[in-house]
Amino acid sequence: MYFAQVVEAGIKNALVMAQLTSREHATMDDFDEAWTLNFKVTMGKLVHRFKLFLGGDDSLGEDLRLALDIRNQLAHHFFWDHAVDATTFEGRDRMIAECMAAVDLFQDVEERLSVVVRRYSEAVGTPPAVFVARLDESLDELRSDSARRSPNTCGRCVTSMEAAGDERRRYWKCPKCGSIALA
Ligand SMILES: [Zn+2]
Repeated sequence: MYFAQVVEAGIKNALVMAQLTSREHATMDDFDEAWTLNFKVTMGKLVHRFKLFLGGDDSLGEDLRLALDIRNQLAHHFFWDHAVDATTFEGRDRMIAECMAAVDLFQDVEERLSVVVRRYSEAVGTPPAVFVARLDESLDELRSDSARRSPNTCGRCVTSMEAAGDERRRYWKCPKCGSIALA
């Protein structure tokens, strides 16, 4: 599921870059708008939107669809479908093998998506080395920000989460994006 989420983030990045470079003079506001537009969308919609920007790479489009189906299978059906497998060593080996194959697919798709992002970033005049340096810079910034932040800050949209639930079960909920975490 970690690698599936990496792919999901990869599609978002690629979409934002692709949408920005398709405009003549993209500004920071355009960036924020493109980001917000792709922020709450399901992975299925992201894959659909990305079709426009595949640039003839049909195999990437097919693998993205497959990655989406595999991710949904893992999230919703995997353990149920392997209920009997889970009771034997051989069965659990099969489950692990299936997960490893999924990781391979997700990593391969993610790598090809990052090529797309780099291609688009070059199109707006940001060479790969500069792109990576900026990524490192913003990661440093985010790390020091997160160290300063209260532990109840939403990791997705950096908003203060609110206490929710009752005495029986307390949790935190982000008023902006709806992300939740058990207290
Ligand atoms: Zn949030």
